[in-house]
Amino acid sequence: MLKEVSAKNIENSIRKLVSFGTRNTLSEQNNPIRGIGAARDWIFAEMQKISNDCGGCLSVEKQSFEQPKANRIPQPTILTNVVATLKGVGNPERIYVVSGHYDSMCSSPTDAVCDAPGANDDASGTAAVVEMARVMSKYKFDATIIFMTVAGEEQGLLGAAYFAEQAKKNNWNIEAMFTNDIIGGVTTAKNSADRNSVRVFSEGVPSNETEQEANTRRGTGGENDSASRQMARFIKETADFYSPKFGVKMVYRRDRYLRGGDHIPFLERGFTAVRFTEPNEDYDHQHQNVRTENNKFFGDTIEFVDFGYVANVTKINIASLARLAFAPARPKNVGMVTTRLGNDTELKWDAVAESDLAGYEIVWRDTTSAVWTSAQTVGNVTNFVMKNMSKDNYFFGVRAIDKAGNKSPVSFPRPVR
Ligand SMILES: [Zn+2]
Repeated sequence: MLKEVSAKNIENSIRKLVSFGTRNTLSEQNNPIRGIGAARDWIFAEMQKISNDCGGCLSVEKQSFEQPKANRIPQPTILTNVVATLKGVGNPERIYVVSGHYDSMCSSPTDAVCDAPGANDDASGTAAVVEMARVMSKYKFDATIIFMTVAGEEQGLLGAAYFAEQAKKNNWNIEAMFTNDIIGGVTTAKNSADRNSVRVFSEGVPSNETEQEANTRRGTGGENDSASRQMARFIKETADFYSPKFGVKMVYRRDRYLRGGDHIPFLERGFTAVRFTEPNEDYDHQHQNVRTENNKFFGDTIEFVDFGYVANVTKINIASLARLAFAPARPKNVGMVTTRLGNDTELKWDAVAESDLAGYEIVWRDTTSAVWTSAQTVGNVTNFVMKNMSKDNYFFGVRAIDKAGNKSPVSFPRPVR
């Protein structure tokens, strides 16, 4: 799959998206060549084409809703997410969502007529998602993958929030969501040291943590072990293996300092979610009217996007999504048994119901280690005792493995009796 990713396709998609002049959420919806409506229809048609090429394997839909007046929505406005679903063959109820936002803005988020090319923010993420759909639709996975592009990000994460709310209301089993936002690898940073990596932001303490969960966390540690942090580790591990020359730099934060993105509405509703973003943002080429001022050029135009860089980020997404969708679900209700004090560590969990399940691994690390460093296969059981290894001295987790060796993300235990 990784060899099939094409920087040229990504370039073509970004060029097309930029050609609509603006994709501001408040811009024209019925003009075929300018505005967000033209972008919406083009993405929909691309996804349909991809589906036709795989015998109708994607169900492609426009998820439209009326957004009431809000901070950056001066009057009720129709917003449309374009959603392409590749249904899993083993366990289709289990869903992974990968997203980019196709809306754009210039200096003012409510200026619907200025040119807002949004080549990096976020035609790059949108083009990556379209390319992921093209490549991955030729394969079959156990779990379902949703390739989504949303509107209204710049208006307050509105498209993503609508989707996440529907998912919560309908109890969709979304196991993880990735947002790709500003992954263009600005060419002004071509010589920077961390050029060969992408940042993956993950929160440590869950956005929807309850007071009781917070008390438990204070008593056990775990501020560095949310499901989203485990997902970031899973992505890093994937990149280390499949993409040795272009890596993942984990950032232990929900998002950039005081800033936000489309993964947040998912986190707030209890879903696991992370954000992919290039390491060096260039604010002269983000959220700016296209202009030259004092001999300096401003604007999010296409010459600042590095298509090869976008392709590298696309590959890490594909490798991670494929590993997730081939592997069993992560174990649920993982417990650290605390019935009595002792220097052994006992873990228990619910059996993962997958026909090709082989068993489980216990993983552990020193409490100061960023990633899981050790693993032990424990067979197809639902509890295990690590002898002479104190839960005071290590963090432990459990993951599921199938017969082909595919491993789920790690689940972190809660204390149980
Ligand atoms: Zn953005």
